[in-house]
Amino acid sequence: MPDTIVALATPTGRSGIGVIRVSGSDALMIARRLVADDSFHPTPRTATLQGLHDLNGEAIDEAIVTYFKTPHSFTGEDVVEISCHGSPVLLRQVIDICLSLDARMAEPGEFSLRALANGRMDLAEAEAIRDLIDAQTVASARQAVRQMRGEMSATLQPVKDDLLDVIVVLESALEFVEDDLPDFQTESLRARLGLITESVRKIADTFRAGKLIRDGLRVAIVGRPNVGKSSLFNALLGHDRAIVTDIAGTTRDQLHERLIISDIPISLIDTAGLRETTDTVESIGVDRSRAVMADADVVIVMLDVSEPITDEDREIITSVADLEHIVALNKIDKVSEEEKELFRSKVEDQRSKIASVSAKTAEGLDHLQTAIVEPFGAQEVSNSGFLVTDARHHDLLVRARSEIELSIGQLDEKKSEEIILIGLHNALRYLGEITGETTTEDMLTRIFSTFCIGK
Ligand code: GDP
Repeated sequence: MPDTIVALATPTGRSGIGVIRVSGSDALMIARRLVADDSFHPTPRTATLQGLHDLNGEAIDEAIVTYFKTPHSFTGEDVVEISCHGSPVLLRQVIDICLSLDARMAEPGEFSLRALANGRMDLAEAEAIRDLIDAQTVASARQAVRQMRGEMSATLQPVKDDLLDVIVVLESALEFVEDDLPDFQTESLRARLGLITESVRKIADTFRAGKLIRDGLRVAIVGRPNVGKSSLFNALLGHDRAIVTDIAGTTRDQLHERLIISDIPISLIDTAGLRETTDTVESIGVDRSRAVMADADVVIVMLDVSEPITDEDREIITSVADLEHIVALNKIDKVSEEEKELFRSKVEDQRSKIASVSAKTAEGLDHLQTAIVEPFGAQEVSNSGFLVTDARHHDLLVRARSEIELSIGQLDEKKSEEIILIGLHNALRYLGEITGETTTEDMLTRIFSTFCIGK
């Protein structure tokens, strides 16, 4: 077993309970020293209340101690979990005692890494734990749990099996067939590879929705002063306010707020707030909001239908022409239907998506919310299938697919099996990298198991 690691498993700060996790060959020895009982023989997976002591034998806390005996633990090593009272001073003290007993502080993700190294989970499952902890919405947590429970591996397995079967046929041909493969066999291989590419494409395509629920969208509201940007900002937040959590690295200020629309996390940016904090009293101006707009996935351009459309309004609409945007006609509660339509007709020639709203009465907000998420595949999010949410997985799937397509082309050109096999081996390696397995060993075992001759 490698060295013993220790870490606080719960957040720092005062809390009811703080959990310290120790993993490695010294975990039980450390537990014995902490409970000041050298003959401490805890029953694995059974929580017991123990008095904790410092190394001078002084009582420091009463804690629930649970021992997980190797290999039946999260990391596969001996693990001890100590649930102390959540005092930062005490938790620090317990960790210091562990460190003085030759444990070392765990690196980020090191428990999962050890679990991976000890075959307790595959790479995609380990990544899913990280994603579950980072999830911002129930939908993305749900996807992470599915991946954590092995759905990624299960989805890929039949594809990898099929690919391996084709590789085996080609490897055998390389070994035993003197001439080119007969046409009927080439045809069949081609068809099988076609199906495999299609499967890989389908899995990769779920990333559009997967990325959406994981990363969400940045939505900026721009427009002249007083058109109602802040009002819309508040109305949207008030509608479906997210439970805002303090995520490390994100500072909450008036400009950015989080909300959820159709399971998609939205970071809403109010450029009116931007104006206030930069202390510029002048109109927002297209230039100043350009940076915010360029960074946004969707820009909402607000216009006030109760006043004539201005050159500045038109200028703003023109500046977002190349961006995903929606023109929101605000304050419809102040005008008649005819006036609204007249105003709308003046914007229509700009070929923008238009939503009529009232930030005051909330009329039209539902429609606006749908318009925000709809172009990004929101529909696919609500489908209950498994989604690829990780860019690394997506990248490997795309690479695997293009390698297989390359091989199909070479098969059509009647290139040698050796050449065709290069792309297929690469594809299999890429797919294997998703779950972190040692593809080559796995592959060789399977290939040679089909060779009936003792060679
Ligand atoms: P901003 O400068 O673009 O952020 O605009 P504000 O949100 O501060 O709104 C400017 C004024 O318009 C305020 O007095 C709001 O109450 C009013 N307002 C905003 N939206 C509406 C609306 O939909 N209907 C009506 N009647 N008034 C609105």
